Order: sequence, then C-alpha cells, then structure tokens
Amino acid sequence: MASYTPMIQQYLRVKADYQDAFLFFRLGDFYEMFFDDATKASQELEITLTSRDGGGKERIPMCGVPHHSAPNYIEQLIEKGYKVAICEQVEDPKQAKGVVKREVVQLITPGTVMETKGLTDKQNNFITTLTHFREDIFGLAYADLSTGELYTTMLTGPRQLLVNEVYSIGSKEIVVSENFPAEILHSLRERMIITCSYEENSNIPSEFDKITEGIVHDDLLVTIGRLLHYLKRTQKRSLEHIQAAKYYKLEQSMKIDLFSKKNLELTETIRSKGKKGSLLWLLDQTVTAMGGRLLKQWVDRPLINQDEIEKRHQMVETLIKEYFIRQEIRDLLKEVYDLERLAGRVAFGNVNARDLVQLRKSLSQIPLLKSLVEKLPTDNLCLYDQMDVCDELTSLLHESIIEQPSISVKEGNMIKDGFHKELDTYRDARRNGKTWIAELEKKERDLTGIRSLKIGYNRIFGYYIEVTKANISSLPEGRYERKQTLANAERYITEELKEKETLILEAEEKIISLEYELFLKLREEVKVFIPRLQKLAKAVSELDVLQCFATISEERFYTRPTFNDERKIYISEGRHPVVEKVMDSNEYVPNDTWMDKEKEMLLITGPNMSGKSTYMRQVALSAILAQIGCFVPAKEASLPIFDQIFTRIGAADDLVSGQSTFMVEMLEARNAIVYATQNSLILFDEIGRGTSTYDGMALAQALIEYIHDKIGAKTLFSTHYHELTSLETDLHKLKNIHVSVVEQNGKVVFLHKMKDGAADKSYGIHVAELAEMPNELILRAQHILQELENNSVNEKTETSTTNAIEKEDPLTQLSLFEWKEEKRQTDGPLKTEKLVLEKLKQINLLEMTPLEAINKLYELQKHLKK
Ligand code: ADP
Repeated sequence: MASYTPMIQQYLRVKADYQDAFLFFRLGDFYEMFFDDATKASQELEITLTSRDGGGKERIPMCGVPHHSAPNYIEQLIEKGYKVAICEQVEDPKQAKGVVKREVVQLITPGTVMETKGLTDKQNNFITTLTHFREDIFGLAYADLSTGELYTTMLTGPRQLLVNEVYSIGSKEIVVSENFPAEILHSLRERMIITCSYEENSNIPSEFDKITEGIVHDDLLVTIGRLLHYLKRTQKRSLEHIQAAKYYKLEQSMKIDLFSKKNLELTETIRSKGKKGSLLWLLDQTVTAMGGRLLKQWVDRPLINQDEIEKRHQMVETLIKEYFIRQEIRDLLKEVYDLERLAGRVAFGNVNARDLVQLRKSLSQIPLLKSLVEKLPTDNLCLYDQMDVCDELTSLLHESIIEQPSISVKEGNMIKDGFHKELDTYRDARRNGKTWIAELEKKERDLTGIRSLKIGYNRIFGYYIEVTKANISSLPEGRYERKQTLANAERYITEELKEKETLILEAEEKIISLEYELFLKLREEVKVFIPRLQKLAKAVSELDVLQCFATISEERFYTRPTFNDERKIYISEGRHPVVEKVMDSNEYVPNDTWMDKEKEMLLITGPNMSGKSTYMRQVALSAILAQIGCFVPAKEASLPIFDQIFTRIGAADDLVSGQSTFMVEMLEARNAIVYATQNSLILFDEIGRGTSTYDGMALAQALIEYIHDKIGAKTLFSTHYHELTSLETDLHKLKNIHVSVVEQNGKVVFLHKMKDGAADKSYGIHVAELAEMPNELILRAQHILQELENNSVNEKTETSTTNAIEKEDPLTQLSLFEWKEEKRQTDGPLKTEKLVLEKLKQINLLEMTPLEAINKLYELQKHLKK
C-alpha cells in the first residue's frame, strides 16, 4: 500500500468499507473505478477499460463515467442486483491541502434506490429485514424508502412460510445479521432474484422513536431497528418520511403461498414474468401511481373479515351506480401526482420547484374530490375524514412558487414576486438595470449616429457595445475601451456600462442565492406536512382502487358476490376473468360451480385443452376477487370466505419453478394437505402425472381420499386417470364432472362446457377418431385400451406387471398384420361389418345417455356406409 500514490491510498481506505459495492470515486467531472471494480464494471456497463499509474509496480485497471451521465450507469448496475457507493469530494479542491477529502455520501442498493426506470410508478420497492430468534421464530420488517411505508410482523412456523412471505412482499433486497441461517438465504435466492445485505446493529436509532410507538414486542423492535440502521447507514440523510410501523398478522388475510400465487398468475404471468396477462393487469384501472401500488397490495392480501370486505363491495356498488360522480373522480385523480413519493423526496431533500408545483396541483384537487366523496350516498369508509386538504400548505405553495419554475434549484426562477421583500428589491434592481441598458443603447446610437450599434451580453465578457468595423471611424475618441475583436465587429466597454454591469450581475447573483435559500426554507416547511400528506395519499389511493373495482366490474359485467356461512360455493355462469378478456368477446363459455358440505370435491375429467385448468382457476380467481372487495365474473355468486387457497399442478406441467421434478410436485402437494382447513380451497391440476401411471394414479387416489376424509377443504381435482372417476361410488362428498367434446363438420370441437358425470373414458381415442385416423389404428387402440384395463383389474389381485398388450385377441383376431392381409385380399365391406359388430358388442348401454347412444349409432353406421 505504501508505494501507492496518496490518492490511490485514499481510494483503498474508502473501498475497504464498501467491499460488496462498486465504488464510484469522484475525480473532477468523472466517477472513476479502479482495480477489480474497474474490470467488472467495464464488462457490465460495456465501457472502456484503461489503466493508470498508481505508484505501484503495475498499472492499475481503471474505468470511469462522466458524472452527469452517472445515474444511467448506476441504474444499470442496480438492476443487475449490485450496489453502488457514491464517493464525493467533500471539500473545495482549491482549498485542499494535499489530496482532496472524499467520503461516501450514499450507498445505493436494489432495495433503496429511489429513482430508476426499473422502479415503475405503480410498483413498491420494498426492502426486507429478517431476524432469526429461536427455532422457527422470525421477525420480519419491510419498508419502501420512496413512500415511507413500514410494516412488521412475527412469523412462527415452517421456513416455507418465510420464503412465501418474502416472495409476496416482492423485495429485491434483504437485510440480515451475519449469523442468519444460510440455508434460508439459499432457498430465497433459489426462488427470486434478491440481493443480500448485512447489518449487525439492531437498536432503534433515537430519532426513530416515534416510528415504533405502539410496537411493544422486543423481537419486533430488534427487527425494525436493524432495518432502520441499515437505511440510516446507507442513505446518510434525513429519513423523516418513514411512517409509523404498521403491525400485521398473516392470519388477517387470505393466505396464498408463493407457488399458488405464481400459478394463478395474480401479479405476473408464468411465461413472461411480466404484469401483462395477470389478474393485476386485468384489474388495473387505477388512475394514480399510488392507487396502482395499493391495488397490488390488496391483490397480494385478500381480506378475510366479512365486514371489511362488504364495506368495499358496498362502495364499489355505489360507485357503479353513481356513474357521473365516478367519472368526475377519475378526472380529478388524473391531476393528482404521486403524493407518497413526493413526500419521500421532500424528506430526502431531492425535490425541486417543479415537484412542488405538482404537489400544489395535486392538493388543489383534494377539496373537489372530497366534495364528490361526500355526495356518495353510502358509508364512504372514512375516506371523507381522511382526506386532509392541507389548506395551509396549498396556500403557502400558491404564494411562493411560480407556474413554470426551472428544474435546477440553483438557477433562480422559482419564487413568485411578492413572496419575499429582499428578493423583490434585487429583482427591481435587475429589471431597472436592464431598462437602463436599453436606454443606453438608444443614447449611444444617437450620440454616435451608428444605427447598427447594439449592446449585448455574454458570460465571459459581460456587457459590451458592439460596432461593425465599417462604423468604427464614427466613434468618438477616448470614451470606448476595446474588449474583444470579431471578424467584422469590435466590442467595447465604457466606465458607465461597467458600473451598471456590476450592479446587475450582483443583483443576479443575489437573486439566485436568495431563491435557493428561500427554496430550502420552503422545503423545510413542507417537511412538516409529510405525515399529513401520507395520510391523504392513503385515502386518495383507496378511493382510486375502489373506483378501479367499480370501473372494471361495470365494464366486464361482474356481479356483487354474497357470502354464506354454509361453506357453499354457488357460482352461476362463472368466467375466468383474464382468459375471457384476452379472447374475442362472446367466445368465452361460462360455467356453473355448485359445491356444498355434501359435495366438497369435484373430480374433473376431459381431454387436454378442453378447459379443465381454466375452469378450476376461475373458481379460485373469483374467490380472490370477492375477498379483495371487487365484484366477480359471474351472473350470480355466493361464496364462503376462504382462509387459504392452494394450487398445485402436476410436475409435467410445472413451468413455474423450472424444477419440474416429481419431488417438488409432492412437496407442494404436501404443503396443501398439511395446512389446508375445511375453509380452504384446493386446486389440484393433474397431480401425480410426474410419475409412472399406476404410481401416479395411486398417489392421486390417496390424496383425494385423504382430503375427503381428513380435511374437507373445497377441492377441485382434474385428472386424466379415468379410473379415478369410480371413486364417486365410495366417496360420497366427491362428484364427477367432465368437459364435453363434440364433432362439428368433421372437426373436434371443445365446447368448454362442464357437465355432470365422468368423461367418456376413451376420449383420447375418440378424438383420434374424429381426427379421421385410419380405422384400423383406432380399433387397435381401443383393443389395447381394453386389454390394459382388464390387466389393471387383474393386477389389483395378482400384482402382475403390465406388459405390452398381446396382439392376438381370441374374440376378434384383429391383429394389425391380419387386418392388412385381409384388406389386401378383400378390402371389402365384410371385414368392416365384423368390426362394427364387435364394437356394438362392447358398448355398455347402461353407462350412456340417450344422446350418446344415438351418436354412437350414427358413428357406427358411418363406418358401414363408407
Ligand atoms: P386443460 O386444462 O383441459 O388442458 P385449459 O384449461 O388449459 O385446458 O384450456 C385450454 C384453452 O381452452 C384455454 O387456453 C382457453 O383458450 C380455452 N378455454 C378454456 N376454457 C374456456 C371457456 N370456458 N370458454 C372458452 N374457451 C376456453
């Protein structure tokens, strides 16, 4: 180290404290990176790697970015999950003795970044802390630095719960102590892209006492303390906007674990991982960014308190009826900016005058919004009371800031005339000076007789009198001092002009510094209003989400659900909200769902792509929509209040986790059966198909029986194991339903219509037949199927293994070979008749509806006619 230049030594000292971050080291107009940081950053940011002599034996790798374009680069690094430490010169280089003093002024991390493109307005950016206390007891706290929200809870239970919760929150960064169990961090990282940070200090910093008022549990205090310390340490600035911690309990909302959330595509789709195509995307008719964020929070945590839910429903119903009021509310909301984030930036000290203009505009809408809310003929969920119009602040902003202030706070042009006496005096001086100069120009022209003479100003030379070369001879001697020579003109200054120039420039300078001072003072005054603004923001976002529910419910013909205590699901003409929307209108086939204490499980059979998954999901999504306070896509709906929803898809379909192993499928299924209660909803989609047929079928059956006998949760179970449909006989709470398939103009058509009873067991072959596969192949397949089924019956007693089916069949002798032979010889109707007869014999009339029987006859006759 000793041989390095003093500056590199300084760099290394600073870097030692920020090992896990890129150190942006300010050197003049650049941020430079050195050593490994430089090598890595040059790759990540695709910028040129150079080197520098740092006094050591070898040249030091170096790369840098201009300071004005740094935000762009920082953003790229943060989005990749890195941290960036900003190290600035903290003394004036001109006054520095030796190396300029430098300090890290902020550590930007994925969980604390305030402004990036990646941080869309409608998304919170939460940073989470976890503390491990004993065995399975954890403290959790999370905050959004940009909005100031802070939440906390204790988690007691399996670690899976923890992973679920962190996923639910959607944090990009997690703060823990060094001794936090590594395997948990590992499973978090497996599930999501998350940056890990460490903080050992967990005492609440004294300035945050207020934030934790009302939180008495020591474990929670330790957890919040760790988070606040980390924020304070990294941000190194005022965090006055952090709101009082809100304690919540998982049991207060419907639990939907990570896997089910993904699978139901609540906030992002399975394929693209984007919002488009998700339930949130469908619902999002919010007008403000704050409303958008609150909507996501509501979707993430559906309510379970019937009263609270129904209050939301009531408000939605009113807003649907009061169409004009709703439209007016929507129009006003368009003028309301992101109050929460504005408040955050006020505290952080990075608002400019334009932000304050936005704040003023937003506040001006509040009295109007309030009067609209008052007009609504319903209990307005205290929104009216919570809408604090912040009168004093609105008038202060009206008096102080001009309509279109400059972006920079250091160029003046922000404060209104009449707001501050001294400022007005300087402005007068400047204005007078300028008038005086205009007059001087006229006077000089008259004096010299040069019509083209003009007075100008530039930043380097200040004010000057410009005379073209052709006119120079007309200038009187002595009065004019030459300042600058141009190609065809000369610029002069006079004593008089110099004096005025000093006055004007002084006034200008004073105006700028005074405006800056006044602005800072104003910002401090706005700070006082932060808690009130935050409360107002909450009320506005709530109103926004409720109008969003009303808008979508009206637009898509949703209906207000009712709740029953009899654990009954009754949905008439239910639809899948998202599938319905992305399909052309009117193509979606609605379906009923009818389940109660007597029939708690539906076993759904039907061919692939016939709509089984869609049907199951539409039930779950309707339950979720109902419990977040929205209406549901159905003609009529009465639902129980669900405590939890579990969704599992068979491993073969599991695109979600990328781990399509049977083990995962079983782990997930286990979770459902361990934690589900009779108040839960379970969707099992093709469970058991990740293993061999009999194995999978046995497991599926055992699962069904277990849920049926031990849990009693409402369960929808789709399967292609047709054999399971016979369970209906023994399990009295189970009911078979199937999706119907028909032939239209020679093509297989899925009607997507659910019907009672089991699907035609040979539907696969049936579909192949409709697709006009050769007769011989179809018959052979039917034969094999029958053999398999016979075998499986025998197997139950003999435990023999299944072999490929022997071709010779004593009844029909329809081996493929023979068929071909005969066909070659006769190719006539004889053989077909034999086949048709054989098929007729196989038909079990007792299992058919009259319509099915007619269809079958039609089909057989068709073969004879060919
Ligand atoms: P399965 O689970 O039986 O394989 P899916 O539920 O995945 O079938 O449905 C397949 C496709 O059928 C869906 O993507 C959708 O386009 C369409 N579909 C499903 N249900 C309906 C319906 N009720 N009305 C219209 N189209 C539907």
